[in-house]
Amino acid sequence: MKKIGVLTSGGDAPGMNAAIRAVVRKAIYHDIEVYGIQHGYQGLIDGAIEKLELGSVGDIIQRGGTKLYSARCEEFKTAEGQQKGIDQLQKNGIEGLIVIGGDGTFMGAKKLTEQGYPCIGVPGTIDNDIPGTDFTIGFDTALNTIIDAIDKIRDTATSHERTYVIEVMGRDAGDLALWAGLADGAESILIPEVKDDFDDVIDRLKRGHDRGKKHSIIILAEGMGSGFEFSKKIKEATDLETRVTVLGHTQRGGSPSAADRVLASRLGAYAVDLLIAGKAGRMVGIEKNELVDHDILEILNAKHSVDLGLYRLSKELSI
Ligand code: ATP
Repeated sequence: MKKIGVLTSGGDAPGMNAAIRAVVRKAIYHDIEVYGIQHGYQGLIDGAIEKLELGSVGDIIQRGGTKLYSARCEEFKTAEGQQKGIDQLQKNGIEGLIVIGGDGTFMGAKKLTEQGYPCIGVPGTIDNDIPGTDFTIGFDTALNTIIDAIDKIRDTATSHERTYVIEVMGRDAGDLALWAGLADGAESILIPEVKDDFDDVIDRLKRGHDRGKKHSIIILAEGMGSGFEFSKKIKEATDLETRVTVLGHTQRGGSPSAADRVLASRLGAYAVDLLIAGKAGRMVGIEKNELVDHDILEILNAKHSVDLGLYRLSKELSI
């Protein structure tokens, strides 16, 4: 393999730049040319492709977002769109592709691999919702952003003796809410994977209030519904002064944490190793701190599971 491409697609995540850097540096280390494809699969169709040198990825390891930009591209879901992408890869002599993104991105990689273009997927999404890896690139940074926000909210919550509902990202996966809730000692954590009992949320609030707690924090994953609706229900049930903060896109931004930079560096470099070894249609990941790779098809057919042991622990610690 003499020429490979790299793209980022779907929602951006802090650490994607560190992964791009690792791909470029590791490939050049092995005398392989690297081409950056901008705006995900849309850029592949449009031919937004440029050669990346060692210096092209200098000064980006610490930056959030993605130097290659990201996009969603409906056209790439069609056979015609994929053919246009393949035409561009052929025109540029690119023999293998590394895609950094979530499961939608891997679906595109699977299609290309089936049509004879070796692709390797690197999991980059703040939600941590990809099976086959303990952590995705961006999760740790987003978690730290949430913790930072909650710590600040705590100060005002305590001063005014208020209950705060904090809505965090996670439509289908509760990892961000769960880890943030555990790390910040939240009274209750509501995640899509667990049918929580509203009465239990209220009981916990009342118990805390009765023993003199000055603030209460409830973390709600967005997949559980609106934080505003939830806070209204709490106010009705308890008459406690309740406020809502929706953290929104702040969770996607910021300089990647050390853990994400290291993870991205390891996964990006490993993806290059796999292409060199002649592998295709694989997703790289980390399990028990070991680099692993799985068939992308297996990943797409599997379901991510949240760590219910952590969920139980959070309940025990917030009695
Ligand atoms: P995240 O969930 O973190 O936002 P993602 O990679 O799952 O990341 P999607 O928007 O689902 O984000 O997918 C990104 C892109 O992957 C799509 O815009 C599209 O270009 C491509 N893609 C998704 N599904 C398919 C498919 N079935 N066939 C080909 N390409 C696809």
